[in-house]
Amino acid sequence: KLASRDFHPKDTVVELDGVTIGNGSLVMMAGPCAVESEDQLMDIALNVRQLGARMLRGGAFKPRTSPYSFQGMGEEGLKLLKKAKEVTGMPVVSEAMDQENFDMVAEYVDLIQIGARNMQNFALLKQAGKSGKPILLKRGMSATVEEFLMSAEYVLAQGNPNVVLCERGIRTFETYTRNTLDLSAVPVIKELSHLPVVVDPSHGTGKWTLVEPMSKAAVAVGADGLIVEVHNQPEEALSDGSQSLKYDNFQRLMDTVQKIYAVR
Ligand code: PEP
Ligand code: MN
Repeated sequence: KLASRDFHPKDTVVELDGVTIGNGSLVMMAGPCAVESEDQLMDIALNVRQLGARMLRGGAFKPRTSPYSFQGMGEEGLKLLKKAKEVTGMPVVSEAMDQENFDMVAEYVDLIQIGARNMQNFALLKQAGKSGKPILLKRGMSATVEEFLMSAEYVLAQGNPNVVLCERGIRTFETYTRNTLDLSAVPVIKELSHLPVVVDPSHGTGKWTLVEPMSKAAVAVGADGLIVEVHNQPEEALSDGSQSLKYDNFQRLMDTVQKIYAVR
């Protein structure tokens, strides 16, 4: 199979606009769960950039459990992400939730996220493959590693080699954490596949106090990068405030993960 190491022994490196993932540097992606306003996004983008983030995250289309929750700013949010990229130089990652909006998201962002809830949306995966755009594929919350890699295979099979995998936690009987961050998936995937792997300790735990410890562990087990939620005012966030870091905590996280990366 195209995703497997047998087929392709050398590690895949995914190139974005000025950032490469999977080539021996730790790529830190940070930003809010959702783009909420120009002031919010610019403040966060400038701060995470200054603290060493290489990419900006931010959702414009949000897959919310409740239809009454904030659904994201849509195209307006994508425009703000593009503006934040112009100001900071950081390439941007944002989610495309459906086939209808995929091409629009692709126009504005550098790395297109396919979220956990869409990991087996095979029509969307085929479209992602046909687009040739770099794709961040998140593990489904009930998906095995085999199923996760098969979903990547859908993108690769359309001739798009630019896939980054993201472990973001799975559903288990444990409820203290939002999900159970399956860090063993990182070395498992590294054995099975040549694709780069990043870890999302924010959705993986649901609690900001757990983000730094799990980030350290993720780097120790071989992650090529981390995607972390950071907010200027987590208490006021329109989504995922409880797992979002403030700047001072993100600064400490950056410091500790770089030290671990240097000795791994
Ligand atoms: C996100 O990254 O904003 C998100 C919704 O993640 P997931 O699909 O992993 O739940
Ligand atoms: Mn979120």
